[in-house]
Amino acid sequence: MSDIPHTSTQLIHHAYEPPAGFQAVQPGIHKASTVIFPNVAALRSRDWKHKTGYTYGLHGTPTTFTLEERIATLEGGKFCTLAPSGLAAVVLVDMAFLKAGDELLIPDNAYGPNKAFAHAELTSWGISFQFYDAMNPADLAAKLSRKTRLVWLEAPGSVTLEFPDLPALVAVVKAHNQTAEQSHPLGSITALDNTWGAGLAFNAFTLGADVSVQALTKYPSGGADVLMGSVVTNDEALHHLVHFCHMRVGYGVSGNDAELVLRGLNTMALRYAAQDAATRQLALWLQRQPQIAAVLHPALPGSPGHAVWQRDCSGAACLLSAVFKPEFTQQRIDRFCDSLRLFRLGYSWAGPMSLCAPYDVPAVRTTPWPHHGGLVRFSVGLEAVADLQADLAQALEKA
Ligand SMILES: *Cc1c(COP(=O)(O)O)cnc(C)c1O
Repeated sequence: MSDIPHTSTQLIHHAYEPPAGFQAVQPGIHKASTVIFPNVAALRSRDWKHKTGYTYGLHGTPTTFTLEERIATLEGGKFCTLAPSGLAAVVLVDMAFLKAGDELLIPDNAYGPNKAFAHAELTSWGISFQFYDAMNPADLAAKLSRKTRLVWLEAPGSVTLEFPDLPALVAVVKAHNQTAEQSHPLGSITALDNTWGAGLAFNAFTLGADVSVQALTKYPSGGADVLMGSVVTNDEALHHLVHFCHMRVGYGVSGNDAELVLRGLNTMALRYAAQDAATRQLALWLQRQPQIAAVLHPALPGSPGHAVWQRDCSGAACLLSAVFKPEFTQQRIDRFCDSLRLFRLGYSWAGPMSLCAPYDVPAVRTTPWPHHGGLVRFSVGLEAVADLQADLAQALEKA
């Protein structure tokens, strides 16, 4: 625009066009709040609802559309909506499907903040909730009612790692949807928190879920440096409810963050397999340690839901929980955690660095908990397994 006299204006109205024929391995990063329309007719007619055009950064950019497509592919679903964190994706599903007077059912062993949102916000909006025992489909059946609009599923439980029978739980909901008691056109919707399976250990839709949510923060990012979430479904009506709610609540994700997740996806399957193998090795070793009463990991025979895991999954994530023998007081368990040098204290998982955190399980569940000792959850990273095992051994000594 050499006909413009002022440099300040020239610096804004540049003649940039994306380079044609620039075939890099990774897609470029596109960032926008504003997207320019060529004329008023285009501004009026462009459709943000069906991804046929770009209208505004909140409604998507080439980078976020690419990531949405790739997450849908990963999960074996048709439609994907991105959210600024895994928790934001969980909350988006709640807000998209629930109205005042509805009821939500949540597994007793679900991701804690999912329960907290129901407790604080949903109840104040006139939406009730109940916890159910995910290991007992009859308990879910007993709690389904005319009011039930949404049923959360999670596999395995967030800290205690019991692997539920997802097809059996879905079957209970589908049977309820066939009864006269269920008159809502969408019936009761099932939404799976699929962060652990990550689209790799099993297919959420083959097992029957209507909606699959992931914290992309975990495996897809893999770097412990991005927060993002996704909501995937095969059902266009459900997708529209999620997508329109997403627009109204103004959830955006940054192009830079989307690019980091796109980069993480390249190595995700390899990381999942490597961390799976390392976690099982450490789980077997921990099982033999005299200080430990139980190791919870769905691939271990004797761990709750092991047979179902074996039937439905081709892998397992990098989480394991160890229950200490009752003589290990919380103070001794805290000393164990403080003595670890490679397992660092922190939340989240599936990043390169191994992490651990102590949990007070009876305080966060209503179903009976068979153990008496304290629990520590470990997330196994990408360090050498022998080094991690030596770290656990020296900290167990100190406890
Ligand atoms: C981490 C996590 C989330 C939330 O993800 P954030 O990106 O941290 O908000 C949701 N569900 C499960 C099972 C998780 O582990």
